[in-house]
Amino acid sequence: MANFERRVLVLDSRYEPVKIVGLQTGFVLLYTDRASPVIDSPRIIRSISNAYTVPWIVRLQNCSPRNRKAAGPRFSRQNVYLRDGFRCQYCNWTGSLLNLTMDHLIPLARGGKTSWENIVTACKACNLRKGARTIEELGLRLPRMPVRPHFNSTALFALRYGLNSHNIPEAWNGYVDLSVSNRLNEHRILGRSDDLAGSGNSLILGQLPAVG
Ligand SMILES: [Zn+2]
Repeated sequence: MANFERRVLVLDSRYEPVKIVGLQTGFVLLYTDRASPVIDSPRIIRSISNAYTVPWIVRLQNCSPRNRKAAGPRFSRQNVYLRDGFRCQYCNWTGSLLNLTMDHLIPLARGGKTSWENIVTACKACNLRKGARTIEELGLRLPRMPVRPHFNSTALFALRYGLNSHNIPEAWNGYVDLSVSNRLNEHRILGRSDDLAGSGNSLILGQLPAVG
């Protein structure tokens, strides 16, 4: 589990999270006046001549909020499952992630795309049953047609860094929306995501650049 205790949460001018950095980067941001402190920890680091308060949260001076409309979750297996509530969209089954797959509504072989609008979560049995046919041919009705999900940007931030209620430093609470990543974490805790780790299936966490 990621440890964030010695990390610094960096906010933009609207107090929305931008990134998580190491202590050293946090100090540099503060002492070059690129950021101002929001919440300090009680810890102090001393050099020979100075004492530095260790920051928990800093706010960038010149960071205007990013274009929130453009922000959306990356297309990935994990995010498709999240969007669909870890349920087969054909039979409503939910359970071990080992038994979930991604299914093309219009099959690949018939020109279907791998996109938010053409992929749904399906259990292995339904995926097999459906084969290379379309839902119309099978007379299937979906509870809702798939679309690109709209997790808000601070929920995406938590997902990107793997932050959840269990590992978030107390001081950061209230600055990050944990609702989506907690849902994912619940499935992990229930042992339902064995196939999400290291399967190479374009995982958010697997493709993150080194943090901090
Ligand atoms: Zn099913």
